[in-house]
Formats: sequence, structure tokens, C-alpha cells
Amino acid sequence: MNCKYCNSTHVQKDGNYKGYQRYKCMECNKRFNGEKYENNFIIHFKTKIKKSDRNTLTRENYCIPKKELDYSEKHNIKEAMEFIKTHKRPPLLCPKCYYEIPNKYFEDTEHYTDEFVESHYKRCMENFDLNMAFFSKLDNEKFNKCLDKFIDKYKFIEIDDLEKVNGCNGVYILVLDKYKQVYIGVSYSSKGIKNRILQHWSKKKEFGRLLNGDVETSILSIDSFGALDTTRIFYKPLDWSYGMYEYEEKLVSSFKADYRLNRVAGGINDEENSTIRNMKLLSSIQERKLKK
Ligand SMILES: [Zn+2]
Repeated sequence: MNCKYCNSTHVQKDGNYKGYQRYKCMECNKRFNGEKYENNFIIHFKTKIKKSDRNTLTRENYCIPKKELDYSEKHNIKEAMEFIKTHKRPPLLCPKCYYEIPNKYFEDTEHYTDEFVESHYKRCMENFDLNMAFFSKLDNEKFNKCLDKFIDKYKFIEIDDLEKVNGCNGVYILVLDKYKQVYIGVSYSSKGIKNRILQHWSKKKEFGRLLNGDVETSILSIDSFGALDTTRIFYKPLDWSYGMYEYEEKLVSSFKADYRLNRVAGGINDEENSTIRNMKLLSSIQERKLKK
């Protein structure tokens, strides 16, 4: 954008006026209209979120094939390689594919093979369809009864404004009414529950992590859903942090499995040792019998 008066490129956005984006020139200080103003935000739970084609989950936006590895996968490979260099032996419990590259998954330390991308995409879509079929068979009334009972028993509070949980710690429940599913999470960082929820809404599950186990048992990740898929939010403030994850585990396991998206049983995030954490994660994978 150039200034309409002095042609300088040194201009800044300055709000909008009568349907047009306003600019202010930093050279001559004059203001002028630019392109038609587009509202790039939607309001959800009284909070501004970026408008995008991923605000609701669809079959089209669920799985975008990608050759490049995500950050954590690159990191795993790097760690395994370094371990071998310094210890002259393979790392404990680490699959071979992380240090004997290339192999059928990894073309090099930063890319999947074409073969993997293609077959993984097919598996993800098959799993997506199985999950959708599973949701459609669930009974709306039974789901609501189950949720009401839970909310009542553990004294959760419903909110219609995310600001209410800004900086607040505790347990939260995201309800995805269309799918008859909930997600139960905890926050005890200084950023609080609002921040955790915004993360779920903005995050896109990495291509390589869409499946958590087998095609026929993997539950869709909460991070694959869009902000607008969350239709109700409940929370329970907790001002203690010790034992919060055990409490999360207790809550997750007492919610009927058919109705929850949690992929692991909870109670894991406080494990600092990454090897033990990974083992705990693997041993607590929640499986869903999608094919009957
Ligand atoms: Zn100017």
C-alpha cells in the first residue's frame, strides 16, 4: 500500500471507516481509505478469533498431506542421532526408524517418504470416516444426561464468556454438541484456562499425529476440531496445583468413554522425564472400537 498523497510505502493500518480499511501515512501524517475492509474475526464465547476455513471441522480440512516432518518428529530424530554419536549405541526404547535413516517412513531427517505420506493419508481418512460414523450413532439424549450428571456431581460452572477463565486454573470441559463429545482438560500455568482453550482452537493437529494407534481404534484429536465446534464450556476452578493431574485422570475415567475425545487417560503432563512420559502416554492410550 502506498500513500495516496506522497506515495510513501511507510503506511500503517488505522482502523476502518464506512466499509474501508483506513491507513495513516507515517511520512506525511495524512489518513486515507484503502481496500474494502474485511472482517477477519468472528466472535465466539465473546472472544475474537481469527476467521479461517478451519473454524469448523470438515472432511476437506481434516487431513492435509505434508512431506515435511513436524517439529517434534525432527527433534526425536535429532536426539536419537546425537545419542548414538555420544554413546556409541542406540537409545533405549527408541524405534529404529529414528536412527537408521532412510527407511520406509523417513526419506531423510526432515521428510517423510512419498509412500508414507500416501498411505498415512488414506489411513487418516478411513479413521476420520469411522469416527464420524461412530458419532452419528450416539444418542443425543443419553449424551446430555451423562453430561448433566457429571456437571452436577463435580460442580462445574458453565460460561458464555472466555474472559471469565482468563488466568484461572482448574479443569475445563469443552462440549461439541454436534458430535455428542466432550474434551476434559486442565490448566495450571499462569496463563490459565482461557489460553489453553484458545490453543485448542488455533492449533492444527500435525499430519503425522492424526492417528493415535490404529485406524480402527484411534479417537479424533480435540485439536482437529475448529473453534465453532465447541458449543458449550464448563469449568471448575482449582487453586491447588499438586495432584491436579491425578484429579484430571479421575475425571476423565469417570466420564463415559463413548462421549469423550480425550486420547489419553490424563494424569501424564506432570511427568518431566520424557522417556517415562512417552511410556505413560503409550500405555494409557484410549482406544475406541470404531468397527463393530
Ligand atoms: Zn504520505
